Amino acid sequence: MISIAENIAQIRKRIEIAAEKTGRNSSSVKLVAVSKTKSAAHIREAYEAGQRAFGENYAQELKEKSQELADLDIEWHFIGHLQKNKAKLVAPVAACVETIDSIELAEMLNRRAARRISCLIEVNTGGESAKSGIAPAEIFGLARKVLALPNLNLCGIMTIPPYDPDPEKSRPYFKQLKIILDSLNADLPIENPLRELSMGMSHDFETAIEEGATIVRVGTAIFGERI
Ligand SMILES: *Cc1c(COP(=O)(O)O)cnc(C)c1O
Repeated sequence: MISIAENIAQIRKRIEIAAEKTGRNSSSVKLVAVSKTKSAAHIREAYEAGQRAFGENYAQELKEKSQELADLDIEWHFIGHLQKNKAKLVAPVAACVETIDSIELAEMLNRRAARRISCLIEVNTGGESAKSGIAPAEIFGLARKVLALPNLNLCGIMTIPPYDPDPEKSRPYFKQLKIILDSLNADLPIENPLRELSMGMSHDFETAIEEGATIVRVGTAIFGERI
């Protein structure tokens, strides 16, 4: 038997330890509970344990769950690959879309937004052809265009490194994402620097926090294995 509440408490403790290790405050790290394929009842259980931010990967699933859980004050993050024609399902619900990878998608979300949507550009740090996200060199151009869209609030960048069970293998990609964020902030005509670095999952979130993650996306370690 897994207890979602206990898992969340443990993850929060581990976030605290990882943050302290590098002199950071754990309040600078947001935990997004990744609830894809898990039921609304599971989400409710996590919510009752104090969890507020949830991550979903599929547009239709997000729409259905958000309707089922409309009585809760959930901060929905969309973290899957988003097709332009599905933007209309996501825009009315998502507080944050973490996977902006084209100006066409950003424009579609901008057009459909009910209120201002936070967003992150997804960077393909591993250069894997099967992964979504844009190449590091293309971020600068895309960021400038996204900044011009009134209903989107560009907050930072996210990445999913090539999977390896050893978290040390993810570290170079996390370092790279931080360097990209710093150079974006040096390059962009903005008053307030972009702050968010969304990186780290169940098996490597502590390493990500050591490298500066402000958002970690944790599914399995909270809800158990997905079938
Ligand atoms: C599924 C998923 C996660 C969570 O992965 P776990 O290994 O279950 O923690 C995080 N980020 C993205 C983009 C995902 O698709």
